[in-house]
Amino acid sequence: MAHYIGLDLGGTNIKAGVIDEFGRPLATLSAPTHADEGPKAVLAALADAARSVAKQYGLTLDQVNAIGVGAPGPIDFDAGVVLAAPNLPGWTNVPLQKSIAQATGRPVVIENDANAAAMGEFWAGAGQDPTIRDLVMLTLGTGVGGGVIIDGHVYHGGFGFAPEIGHMIMVVNGEPCGCGQHGCLESYASATATIRRAIQAIQVGEATSLRALYEKNSHELSAKDVFDAAKAGDTVAQRVVDQTVTYLGVACASICRLYDPQMIVFAGGMILAGDFLFDHVRAVFKQQNWKLLPARVQIVPAQLGNDAGIIGAAAVAWDRDQSGEL
Ligand SMILES: [Zn+2]
Repeated sequence: MAHYIGLDLGGTNIKAGVIDEFGRPLATLSAPTHADEGPKAVLAALADAARSVAKQYGLTLDQVNAIGVGAPGPIDFDAGVVLAAPNLPGWTNVPLQKSIAQATGRPVVIENDANAAAMGEFWAGAGQDPTIRDLVMLTLGTGVGGGVIIDGHVYHGGFGFAPEIGHMIMVVNGEPCGCGQHGCLESYASATATIRRAIQAIQVGEATSLRALYEKNSHELSAKDVFDAAKAGDTVAQRVVDQTVTYLGVACASICRLYDPQMIVFAGGMILAGDFLFDHVRAVFKQQNWKLLPARVQIVPAQLGNDAGIIGAAAVAWDRDQSGEL
């Protein structure tokens, strides 16, 4: 039985897991990142988490095939270096791969966390059916993250920065985006954009059931609140939701033209809206998709939940181990 360790590096916590060769978590732990103490402290905490979680399952690190680390931000994959990480102070050109390999004595694979999450769903989640070899994942949260699996492997692009599905331009000269472009998908279809449009409607005095909730929850709403109100028949919420699902459905059609995936997986807080979200996105997709051939892609929710980060990190280590590249 092969064992992998997945490490998920977040701004607040490091999650670690021992994962078997089928992508099942056998032991997990969470430890503080100590991000404010700088890169050295974070690297030490990562290595400690790997050792501790192996011990928790009764393994020494020697019995672990490989370690995968999911990290935020752009990565130089050839050098094993994190180029920048917005939520980790001091993280510029940090040699993550080499540092964890030296501290643990095991082969280490590093991956961008959004790509790792897509690989996790491919390996052990929504896409685990072995006939699925090509999968695209969109994470609908503060922004729209993305990962693309082509013929069973993570796609990195020519410079290592692919894919940035959330920054596909959907509207020429549209809403400004933090990336410097205008009209990006995430400016319209993220959970944040959905909530922002609902709050704007409340603030200009439109009649909506969301107002009472917004005032009760000290001026906060979740994307699920907006979807629930739409489902219950609130016309303002329905308009907001229609905009979000329209952009998502159109994005799915474009993704199909580019990558021809067998499956598009949505993750993130917005998928709590359930069938109401997916039925609408599928309907828009069907209407917008080309008519040359029938659509065969499945548009489905992610399945891994809380363990997605560690399973995804282990998945990239498993993939490289299987390929004989370690
Ligand atoms: Zn953008």
